[in-house]
Amino acid sequence: MIKEKKDFIIMGIETSCDDTAVAIVKNGREILADKIISSATEQAKFGGVVPEIASRAHTEAILDATKQALKESNLTFNDIDGFAVTYGAGLLGALLVGVSFAKGLSYATNKPLIPVNHIRGHISAAYLQDKNLQPPFITLLVSGGHTAIIDVKSYDEFEVLGGTLDDAVGEAFDKVARVLGLSYPGGPNIEREAKTGKNSVKLPKMLKGKGGYNFSYSGLKTAVINHVHKLKQKGEEVNIADVACSFQCSAIDVLALKAVKAVKEKKYNTLTIGGGVAANGYLRESLTKACEKEKIKLVLPEKRYCTDNGAMIAAEGSIQFRKKNFADITLNAVASIPLRETLK
Ligand code: AMP
Ligand code: MG
Repeated sequence: MIKEKKDFIIMGIETSCDDTAVAIVKNGREILADKIISSATEQAKFGGVVPEIASRAHTEAILDATKQALKESNLTFNDIDGFAVTYGAGLLGALLVGVSFAKGLSYATNKPLIPVNHIRGHISAAYLQDKNLQPPFITLLVSGGHTAIIDVKSYDEFEVLGGTLDDAVGEAFDKVARVLGLSYPGGPNIEREAKTGKNSVKLPKMLKGKGGYNFSYSGLKTAVINHVHKLKQKGEEVNIADVACSFQCSAIDVLALKAVKAVKEKKYNTLTIGGGVAANGYLRESLTKACEKEKIKLVLPEKRYCTDNGAMIAAEGSIQFRKKNFADITLNAVASIPLRETLK
């Protein structure tokens, strides 16, 4: 009798922005290899991501990243059970590189092609951090394009409890960084400056005690811009560290507050976090303190798995693999996918 293979191994391919990432994950939980080749340094010269440079960089790096991942895991394509790839949302030209590459691998090896939604990948990063994590739980999704509190009811069932009414928190970090003359990517640079600053600039309180689980970042961003411009007009020096610290406190405090409230209200015991802003040290500390106080289990993926990576795509791909949710060779890239469609 042929014994059914219980373990399965998925390769995750991610090229939605400026990271060419390939990872190999066993049973949706164990990272066997994880390679990221980033074009961020090249992009920094232009103050942001130039889509065409990103696409070209992916084309050059993708085979290398794949070979490195196979070498690191001591595996060959024969050992891979499916190829998971980010098909959206992201930069169209950048996505097409990963999608076309994954199609080639799937076709050549006759193994399934698994389409992965990038945002669901960010949520699934938590399954790699805590191998016993099971839904239901609340996820705080904080990225360059989204800010939302999500009720993860099952591996495949979600409810958006609230989100931003205007800018995403990562977008606010990037715009404020630009106003302060800090280079791309803005988030980590604001965090670095904030470490030596004081929370001394009066900024809006955000939707702290109101607005349900919603957020709003455009007023905060405008307040920082006005503060900087006023000082410049008066010929006064801008204390970058203090502005960065004050902005960071305003932007983050409300996130921690509402995320914890959602866990309590749903009577869950677990909070997870995902997306690039989840790498922010002040947010991680604030959540750790708040969850300790409320006796909530907090799952904080390592910083490397908060920003874009292939492992989270393989983790989400593993959920879809179990459901046999495969794509055929006509799979195409999608630049924009509304959050409610992403999580439907
Ligand atoms: P994502 O959209 O999930 O790929 O994340 C990218 C966003 O995360 C960008 O807006 C970055 O500025 C932001 N980001 C990355 N690291 C940090 C950090 N340490 N603090 C705040 N924001 C960050
Ligand atoms: Mg991302």
